[in-house]
Amino acid sequence: MAIVEPVESSGPRRRLRVRSPVTLEPIGEFDCATDDDVRAAVERARKAQAEWSTLSFDRRARHLSRLVDELVARQDEIIDAVIAETGKARAEAISMEIFAPCDAMTWYAKHAKKILSPQRKRIHGVMGLAKKLRIVWEPLGVIGLITPWNGPIALTAVPLAQALMAGNAVVHKPSEVTPLSALVFKSLLDDAGIPPDLVQVVQGDGETGAALVESGVDKVSFTGSVATGRKVGEACGRLLIPCTLELGGKDAMIVCADADLDRAADGAVFGSCMNTGHYCCGTERIYVVRDVYEPFVEKVMERAQRLRQGAEGEFDVGAVFWDRQLQIIEDHVEDARAKGATVLMGGRRNPDLPGLFYEPTVVTDVSHDMALMRDETFGPVVAIMQVNDEEEALRLANDSVYGLNGNVWTRDTDKGFRIAEAMQTGGVCVNDIAITYGLPEAPFGGRKQSGVGKVNGEMGLKGYCHPKPISADRRGKGPIQGGYPYTRKGERGMQKFIRLLFGTRLGRWLS
Ligand code: NAD
Repeated sequence: MAIVEPVESSGPRRRLRVRSPVTLEPIGEFDCATDDDVRAAVERARKAQAEWSTLSFDRRARHLSRLVDELVARQDEIIDAVIAETGKARAEAISMEIFAPCDAMTWYAKHAKKILSPQRKRIHGVMGLAKKLRIVWEPLGVIGLITPWNGPIALTAVPLAQALMAGNAVVHKPSEVTPLSALVFKSLLDDAGIPPDLVQVVQGDGETGAALVESGVDKVSFTGSVATGRKVGEACGRLLIPCTLELGGKDAMIVCADADLDRAADGAVFGSCMNTGHYCCGTERIYVVRDVYEPFVEKVMERAQRLRQGAEGEFDVGAVFWDRQLQIIEDHVEDARAKGATVLMGGRRNPDLPGLFYEPTVVTDVSHDMALMRDETFGPVVAIMQVNDEEEALRLANDSVYGLNGNVWTRDTDKGFRIAEAMQTGGVCVNDIAITYGLPEAPFGGRKQSGVGKVNGEMGLKGYCHPKPISADRRGKGPIQGGYPYTRKGERGMQKFIRLLFGTRLGRWLS
């Protein structure tokens, strides 16, 4: 039984039904927007954007601030909607879907004005004597926002806040797995007084996402898998529109001999199992140096065995959100088992729960010829490999087509930073699990196949703008320097000037 499946439609639109991953009962149905619906939404958004872009940063920030008010006031409604669709643990819904968006939206509301106000730039050398320059950060227009199912509110609100503060409109295509959370979030936007056409939701699956890319939007902000990201990137290349691609990961954790093993074991279990392992920066592979391998595994087991899986009351690990992902998790663990890995605990669906529950799993004796250590598993699996030393750990950590994030555990912070710098990833945490996405000061984005472009922070915000350089001549009158008519005398004068300026040390220093 599929979590998302087509159902009979009485109208012209394809219709999908969504089931709860916890009970497997239907929880809602929705129509997929057609290509025409998507194009019409983009047209309406474009009209709304024309007015929105004239608002001052302070007025945009007030709207965003009201959205934060709504999110705080109606947090239980959001939490319930997200849990109904995903089966994630309540604490995760609170931290990821309420705290993180509130924090990010507040930051962008506060800082966008300073970051995006027109900047005067000093022009270097002799050119500076004659010219002045101003950079104006113009909104791009309509942003097509395509999001996945693992953080339906956070992964919408964070880019949305940046796009809106930069003066854009947004047409959002949420994941087909979490359409209802997207609608509750849209109702918060409406109640916060954000013009209805400025942010619109077009529901649907991949077909609708592809239609949004082709609909005439001015940029695509995509978060999702590598396979889809590649298609989106190809389409954007053909259409010559910019895009950011925030894609999958296979984050490595390196445990040095001098690590605080208790903290590292906490980090291993939390980093691997948080959000049922459906976290792009989740810990997917752990390399532990020989000296501390055994005590580390012991500590991981103590903690993993204490995890409570469930759907009601107090529990730590919730459901797998989508049957497609469950299949991948099962395949990876089975492939590892078949190739000689030891499954110390878990490694199967939870027989006591009716929905999509995969038991928290600890696997050792793994190697890089197993899918579990190569491809994104995105499930509650702690995969641990023994290595000879930190050098080998680093080599194996970098032996991946992915490069999103990673983490290093050592009591020597300087060494931690050194290893972090050598990791071929978008970001790294030392003695911590991947918090980078939650720090608006940090540009976020993957290397290798984990992504293209940066989201978040100053860089992310500026990515929703066109930086327009406007230069002016200081005098603005008289003849244009170097202009017509060309004369031999003028050419000789120019060459003499070049020799003076770039042919001498003093000249080069001055320029
Ligand atoms: P996905 O690629 O299957 O889908 C993502 C979105 O794209 C969905 O809304 C989907 O409907 C849409 N889509 C599908 N086909 C499309 C097409 N041809 N054109 C346009 N849109 C299309 O990914 P998913 O399974 O929803 O999400 C899980 C993936 O997202 C994981 O790989 C995870 O690592 C990644 N992710 C990355 C980040 C990050 O910031 N790097 C954050 C969260 C999740």
